[in-house]
Amino acid sequence: MHNMKSFKNSLPCVGVLLVIISVLLCAGLTLANICDLGFNVQATESGSSSDDGSGDDSKEDNEEESSEEEDKADMDAIRASISEKQNQIKEAENEKKKVQSDLTNVKKIVSSLKDAKQDLEYYVTQLDGNLSDVQDKITQLNGLIVEKEKDIEQSEKDLAEAERIQKDQYESMKKRIRFMYEKGNGFYLDLIFGSSTFGEMLNKADYIEQMSAYEKKKLDEFKDTCLYLDSCRQGLESDKELLEAAKAQVEAEEDNLQQLISAKEQEISNTSADISNKEAAIAEYEADIAARNAIIAALEQAIAEENRKLEESGGTARKYDGGMFQWPAPSYTRISDDYGYRIHPTLGITKFHNGVDMAAPGGSPILAAYEGEVVAADYNSSMGNYIMINHGDGLYTIYMHASALYVSKGQTVSKGDKIGAVGTTGRSTGNHLHFGVRKDGVYVSPWNYLSK
Ligand SMILES: [Zn+2]
Repeated sequence: MHNMKSFKNSLPCVGVLLVIISVLLCAGLTLANICDLGFNVQATESGSSSDDGSGDDSKEDNEEESSEEEDKADMDAIRASISEKQNQIKEAENEKKKVQSDLTNVKKIVSSLKDAKQDLEYYVTQLDGNLSDVQDKITQLNGLIVEKEKDIEQSEKDLAEAERIQKDQYESMKKRIRFMYEKGNGFYLDLIFGSSTFGEMLNKADYIEQMSAYEKKKLDEFKDTCLYLDSCRQGLESDKELLEAAKAQVEAEEDNLQQLISAKEQEISNTSADISNKEAAIAEYEADIAARNAIIAALEQAIAEENRKLEESGGTARKYDGGMFQWPAPSYTRISDDYGYRIHPTLGITKFHNGVDMAAPGGSPILAAYEGEVVAADYNSSMGNYIMINHGDGLYTIYMHASALYVSKGQTVSKGDKIGAVGTTGRSTGNHLHFGVRKDGVYVSPWNYLSK
């Protein structure tokens, strides 16, 4: 600046030159620059009356274009995301419909069960199958909820991104609109009187047209962004609705489960208590116990046969080392029915109870009392879900009425392994573990191996 001043002082015509230089400099500042710089360039721009509009703006245009390309890529990604989101919504709605139709089926089964309740064995088997279906469904629904929560998290990220784009677009539009407004009529006057030739004016007019097209394009993009925001919000709300619906379904399923359990327990005790012929009731009870014993004895026989073959071929069968048992139901609250001769609660006669009943919450763990091999992990309408473990030397433990089995036949377990969950499947009224111990083909007192 100091050099310029001294130069200006020495040559009087330099002032005129400076005006020309500033005009040339301003000509370099195109409308596109002004658009992007907004108000900051207003003072400079108004100081100049000349802008041929076809100046050296290619560099700035390239920057504008590359940022436009980025915008376009953003918008393409957004549009792809919109259609993906719409597909997700559709899928989720189908899932919801499926869950609802399944729920209706549960109701149907309950009503058909009421008709079939005369056949207790059939009734119990159907109901237990139903209970495990409902539990599976609850597990599925919980998985659905976890997925929905992930979707919502993603939607919120998408929404934040769209809001950022919208804000950017809004800011640059504000600048452009403000510039056009400030320029007002002067803009057009400049177009006509500021052009020295007709060709220059046409160039400027062409530029204005291009700029209008650019504004329109920006407006369209702004609209698209708004559409996307709307779609994000809708998706998010729909996802949340689905999540809530799924939660409501889980709760409804749980209610159904509870209803089924209490209905079954009511039916079992009604059937036992309401049989007017006590002899028939006793006969039914004994037939039930005999059926259990037949299954267990058959299993023991098969093992004895295997052991015999094993020893014949030089092998050694499993041996019991005489150790004490692990308490199999650590969550138990009380012994609801002890081993030995007891007065049967509904039959009112003295009957032999071949195990210890441990009342524990449904779903609480059942542990292997001792190391051994699982010889049965199965379902039966009387024992419900049951497990039988061979500990060697003719010693077995039996666990009945489980809600879930975590082991399968042939598996080796260690003392204290979690093998199942307490339940009330089979002929059972209320959650409990029936724990039986057999030695050499007969039931023995679990207290020989357990300490309280
Ligand atoms: Zn029992």
